[in-house]
Amino acid sequence: MRQITLSNGKKVEVECLSCALTSGLIEPDGGVVLETEHFHAHQDVAYPIKGLIILASKRHIKCLDELTEEEQLEYIQVLSRIRKAQRDVLGIEYVYYFYNEDTSHHFHTWMVPRYDWMYEFGRSVESVRPVLLHARNNMNAGENVEQVMEAIEALRRELG
Ligand SMILES: [Zn+2]
Repeated sequence: MRQITLSNGKKVEVECLSCALTSGLIEPDGGVVLETEHFHAHQDVAYPIKGLIILASKRHIKCLDELTEEEQLEYIQVLSRIRKAQRDVLGIEYVYYFYNEDTSHHFHTWMVPRYDWMYEFGRSVESVRPVLLHARNNMNAGENVEQVMEAIEALRRELG
């Protein structure tokens, strides 16, 4: 069990943060970007990168091979729809996808847009963590946060 503080200040104990998010127990800051039968997409605003999306399954599973055939189909369709919206609405040229099965949450894929400033941290997987930390520690205010929130809204409208 982990304790989570809701935006209204209330504390709740949940077994799995992904379950709490996808079931609607916890409303992500910025809101839900897209919800389908088997999946749920939101931005983790703790990492204020414009257009960053976390796509989680609704079922509490850990591994890709646990997806049913129906979920597999929907997964690639939803992933592609979000990717297209990132391109069409936000002009995002490249995205890094990150997904680890040994998570303390459950099945979720990070879609991290690539921006020019990120290349100073490297060009491949080794740059992902420093990029996320840089955003969390140095970009978490003012105009950038406003742009992140606007991007969430724009993606939600496009995908709605
Ligand atoms: Zn779960």
